[in-house]
Amino acid sequence: MDTQMLIGSRFENGTETEEHILNPKTGETVIDLPEASLSQIDAAVDAAEKAFAGWSQTTPGERSAYLLKIADAIEKDAAGFAALEALNCGKPINSVLNDEIPAIVDCYRFFAGAVRNLHAPAAGEYLPGHTSMIRRDPIGIVGSIAPWNYPLMMMAWKLAPAIAGGNTVVFKPSEQTPLTSLKMAKLLSEILPEGVVNVILGRGESVGNALINHAKIGMISITGDIATGKKVLQAAAKTVKRTHLELGGKAPVIVFDDADIDAVVSGIRTFGYYNAGQDCTAACRIYADARVYDNFVADLSSAVASIRFNQADDTENEIGPLISRRQRDRVESFVARASEHKHMEITTGGKVSGDKGFFFTPTVVAGALQDDEIVRREVFGPVVSVTRFSQADDAVAWANDSDYGLASSVWTKDIGRGMKTAARLQYGCTWINTHFMLVNEMPHGGVKQSGYGKDMSVYALEDYTAVRHVMINHG
Ligand code: NAD
Repeated sequence: MDTQMLIGSRFENGTETEEHILNPKTGETVIDLPEASLSQIDAAVDAAEKAFAGWSQTTPGERSAYLLKIADAIEKDAAGFAALEALNCGKPINSVLNDEIPAIVDCYRFFAGAVRNLHAPAAGEYLPGHTSMIRRDPIGIVGSIAPWNYPLMMMAWKLAPAIAGGNTVVFKPSEQTPLTSLKMAKLLSEILPEGVVNVILGRGESVGNALINHAKIGMISITGDIATGKKVLQAAAKTVKRTHLELGGKAPVIVFDDADIDAVVSGIRTFGYYNAGQDCTAACRIYADARVYDNFVADLSSAVASIRFNQADDTENEIGPLISRRQRDRVESFVARASEHKHMEITTGGKVSGDKGFFFTPTVVAGALQDDEIVRREVFGPVVSVTRFSQADDAVAWANDSDYGLASSVWTKDIGRGMKTAARLQYGCTWINTHFMLVNEMPHGGVKQSGYGKDMSVYALEDYTAVRHVMINHG
């Protein structure tokens, strides 16, 4: 297991407070890892600054070749990366190996191609005697801060467009899930020039806080909680840093009366509970037409009761535990508060599972109303609420009545109705008759308090580069 941070070309242990890195399936400590000191953070930023001079002047083709090598190396060691991610997050090994790793490899390959195909308005003589052209240049040093739900994928979403765009990076994984980023640090040190990517460990309030306030860092990219995003904005104001924020969600799912109910049930069983619901796009807030509501709730509840988890043979598992005891207790308390209300019914699940690890039974909360906490707040666990609607306009208004704006879906056999509804939803993404599906060619990101950073796609490359105008006087 790789346990050291990467600062320039040096591998070092942190010198400060140790964090217990846990196996969420058992609750046992895998390893204790100390966090970086302020001088180690400065050294990582200095290494990134030194590397920027050379890296920012490489051609897109050269950077593309590095990204392709990174993709190949991850693919070659897919089993090793998957085993470590499964250990640190409690994810079923097959989910990591078959779903996540191919998407991660494809992310590096996508940006390897995209950086060679940047577009801009035509160069030309917009002022007589002068030629204007557009450049897309790197921003400088990017401080990247990742959450714990998809550690290796979030690292790919942040590193690939940043380094493709010619930036250098100081990357901080979540303090709870650093193991695959340390393995990546080793891999990256063997491929990239010294200092292009640096990996440091630590908690948000200490190391994260030092990064977002660092005067030499030109851009902060963070995926996390809205409250954390607001702290980033406050810190960024001091030196007017660019920010890239991805801040959670509470995805509404509108089920019209003409939807294919079997497809919706099967879709929500997967897309509401994947990764134990610890997903900012999870299909967790359902609005079902009153004409199909009763059958839908009954079918969904029995489908969700059949989700396999906490089995000794991990290849049987469809979902894993929550990331921590704290997260599990948080989820449990949401469900407990919902069950105190007479109008809501826990139709399946609703309790902690097993005496080891942080498992929670997949849960459906039926009869929820728009103002209920379970409808309004992000639970980030295997819990889906169902709300009945009679008027389509109410469903759209309720779906939009949220501080979040990341992802949404509409289920109907009438494609015109689906398109019209999609046009009225205030979300970064709307799926029609599916949910949760991502492709590297298309952007992932929010509106409203879900933030405005785009991951994946050419839009991410635009976020991680600055548009510049160069004008030549013909003389
Ligand atoms: P979090 O905000 O607590 O932590 C995210 C990262 O920010 C961690 O690396 C943490 O160490 C760091 N951090 C925390 N406080 C900080 C501070 N004051 N200064 C600098 N860095 C700080 O979130 P989490 O608990 O790790 O993740 C769960 C949250 O992330 C959920 O709200 C979820 O919706 C959100 N999320 C969003 C997306 C998305 O794409 N929009 C994806 C995954 C998770």
